[in-house]
Amino acid sequence: MQIKLTFLGAAQNVTGSSYLVETKTTRFLVDCGLYQERELRGRNWEPFSFLPENLDAVLLTHAHLDHCGLLPKLTKSGFQGKIHCTEATAEIAQIVLLDSAHLQEEDAEFKRRRHEREGRKGPYPEVPLYTTADARSSFPLFAPLKYEESVEIGEGVEATFYDAGHILGSSMIKVMVMEDGEERSILFSGDVGRWNKPILHDPTLFDEADYILVESTYGDRLHQDQGKIDDLLSEVINSSERAGGNIIIPSFAIERSQEILYHLNSLLMENRIPHLMVFMDSPMAIRVSEVFEHHPELFDQEMMELIRRRESPFDLPGLQITRTADESKAINHIKGTVIIIAGSGMCTGGRVKHHLVKEIHRPESTILFVGYQASGTLGRQIVEGAKEVRILGQRYPLRAKVVQIHGFSAHADRDELFKWLSGLKRPPRQVFVTHGESHAAHSFASYLQGKEGWKVWVPRYRDEAVLN
Ligand SMILES: [Zn+2]
Repeated sequence: MQIKLTFLGAAQNVTGSSYLVETKTTRFLVDCGLYQERELRGRNWEPFSFLPENLDAVLLTHAHLDHCGLLPKLTKSGFQGKIHCTEATAEIAQIVLLDSAHLQEEDAEFKRRRHEREGRKGPYPEVPLYTTADARSSFPLFAPLKYEESVEIGEGVEATFYDAGHILGSSMIKVMVMEDGEERSILFSGDVGRWNKPILHDPTLFDEADYILVESTYGDRLHQDQGKIDDLLSEVINSSERAGGNIIIPSFAIERSQEILYHLNSLLMENRIPHLMVFMDSPMAIRVSEVFEHHPELFDQEMMELIRRRESPFDLPGLQITRTADESKAINHIKGTVIIIAGSGMCTGGRVKHHLVKEIHRPESTILFVGYQASGTLGRQIVEGAKEVRILGQRYPLRAKVVQIHGFSAHADRDELFKWLSGLKRPPRQVFVTHGESHAAHSFASYLQGKEGWKVWVPRYRDEAVLN
């Protein structure tokens, strides 16, 4: 038995998830993600370290860009195998890939023009990494399956997908390899979700696995108590309404926007917030919400209860869906308090910028952050209380109230990661700690070693391991 595992991404960093597995008979990738850290983005342009046409399949854990974002490049480079994932992942990934391709095209054009004006050349070619046509050509390769359904990806190699509780359709994948009369299992955690979160099921626990790759995004910290989300949300909405201002919620299109609607729905039913107009002003969030509506089988019990009481989980009274830019602009003419959910989540682009221009200088309005704000983003400047910020080329004083609700995170914290691993009834042969900044990954690795005494390793980019 000899299985070769190569870490091609999310190794001492959090994006670009990709692991190459090679057995005697089969060669496949688990995830094919885009690098998003500024200093690592150059890797997106490097040729693959293997021949894409020799790959039998890709197993895709979920639809976040850092897990699926290089699939169009893979197809463009000659990959013709199947992309196995759940149905919801296939649907959301296609929305995400088209959006990403569109941004790549816009970006390349913008850079080309700027460099032309400045008479210089940038570090990367001024062509898109892939186009919308490339993205579309990867779609026929998607081979959707259901949770706990097994698929043979090569002779003696079988994969089974389990609910990861991270975003809709997200999976943990267990791969069984049979060789020379022996059998080994490799468990890929994907992104581990959280217990007792609205909408989704809890992450699946496993009895046994020989080798485990576990993510460690928050492997060095603990999340705040999430029971307070409803209290904080109702307090923000009620106080903004009393002040006569609006509430702007910069939000991520996948999961977070739908979670906000879920919380607004419950608060309304409990009469804890007034009936207000709520605008979902993000074309991508609207499309992703439609995928949610196709897949009620993925919802947890509380969500099913909510659906029983209201026909659609996201159809709260007063909800307005704004599809066009004109509809989006019309929101600004409405008198009285409104709630606007708009992308992007870190205010780096999208329609939220236009709403900020209108609201950021009004002390009666509130900007409510519900997600992580990376350094160097407009969102981060606002959260950190800058006196003045630059939006769409103009400077504006920051006078609106700024509130941040932590606790929405879709990633397990240290104790939750440990809880996920503690389902095992026998020690694994080895654990690989991936998908975390160096500090988070090493800190979780030593925590695990200290608690369980298992063999734990934190691989680096392009490191290889032989599983036997
Ligand atoms: Zn994810």
